[in-house]
Amino acid sequence: MNKYPLTKQEQTLQKKFTNYFASGTCLPFAKGRVALYAGLKALNIPEGSEIIMPGYTCVVVPTAVMFAGYKPVYVDIDPNTYNIDTDQLANRISERTGAIIVQHTYGIPAELDTITQYCTQHNIPLIEDCCHSFASRYRDKLCGTYGRFSFFSGQWNKFFSTGLGGFFYTQEPELAERMHKLFQNAQKPSSLASLRFALQILAYQFLVKPSTTALMTGLYRLLGRAGIVAGSSSYEELEGTLPKGYFSRMAPAQLKKSLSELDKIQQTIQHRRQIGEFYHQELPRLNFKTVPESSKTETVFLRYPVRVENKEALLKKAEKQGIELGTWFETPLHGNEAPLSVFAYETGSCPNAERACEQVINLPTHIGVDMDYAEKVLNFLRKYAG
Ligand SMILES: *Cc1c(COP(=O)(O)O)cnc(C)c1O
Repeated sequence: MNKYPLTKQEQTLQKKFTNYFASGTCLPFAKGRVALYAGLKALNIPEGSEIIMPGYTCVVVPTAVMFAGYKPVYVDIDPNTYNIDTDQLANRISERTGAIIVQHTYGIPAELDTITQYCTQHNIPLIEDCCHSFASRYRDKLCGTYGRFSFFSGQWNKFFSTGLGGFFYTQEPELAERMHKLFQNAQKPSSLASLRFALQILAYQFLVKPSTTALMTGLYRLLGRAGIVAGSSSYEELEGTLPKGYFSRMAPAQLKKSLSELDKIQQTIQHRRQIGEFYHQELPRLNFKTVPESSKTETVFLRYPVRVENKEALLKKAEKQGIELGTWFETPLHGNEAPLSVFAYETGSCPNAERACEQVINLPTHIGVDMDYAEKVLNFLRKYAG
């Protein structure tokens, strides 16, 4: 696509990313949400259409939808898989529906057979939120290859980190062409911004260990607020206002990190698979419910979800003891600063999701977690989880 030139690094990334999926086209953006925003624009959905998504997601998903000119509509989740409930989804589809976003929560594949069937029936584009799933499969095909396009995140605690960052992926040549065209208008980060990312990536590698994650996350948010580090989201964005420089590309330092992460992706997958399977085997012995298995899916967990009765107290205790427990999701639109109604979420509309927000903590599977540490996490749960 010489008409729409990319930098050398971008081209290399494109090649490596699509090699992993065996075909298709990828474009790197500043964040996963930006890939979604751009993808929505490229689909040419009529303005004001409703975009359906699970009411158990990151607030930056509905904000991207709103920034692109659409209305987010939320469907409750299946309490066992944390993915969109297909019966309730069927009831929400109407002539106003512009697209459906499925999210493979925690890495658990959504019910793609049923959902793709709805999409075909009603001629609605399917979009996959793969911010939690990089290696999970549904019927032997990778999650991310079912939708018109999919988007991935390189945020600090996603499948692999690029500092911050995101990827757009599609298997449709025509859509890919439109995206390349749009991409020409995406801002290029300055060399100073790239230097800052390089330093942040370095600092992260030295400072963030499973035992310090909670502490460092707090510090990072503070520094982000003060404008000292590049934070994941600006305050205005979490309030629903389009921030300056939103539509941006990855900085060279982030691209470099992406390339090195993709080079060792099989190791990362193997590791996450092993730790996830360990939790899955051991949790029933501690009397915790596990995620149901399905013959159609192969899950590589980004985080392993567990329900507890004392979420808040448990998280506090974990922080004190240096145990890395995740809080996803704390609200149906995680990370929201403004009230949920600003993002068109009506409290009480997704009761399964709201209950999950009160009860679910999640266990880490990343490369910093070895078997000993995973065992420590389980011991902690055995002792303190209600
Ligand atoms: C992290 C996340 C996103 C957004 O990713 P960014 O790269 O931070 O924009 C979207 N959806 C889900 C489910 C996520 O967890």
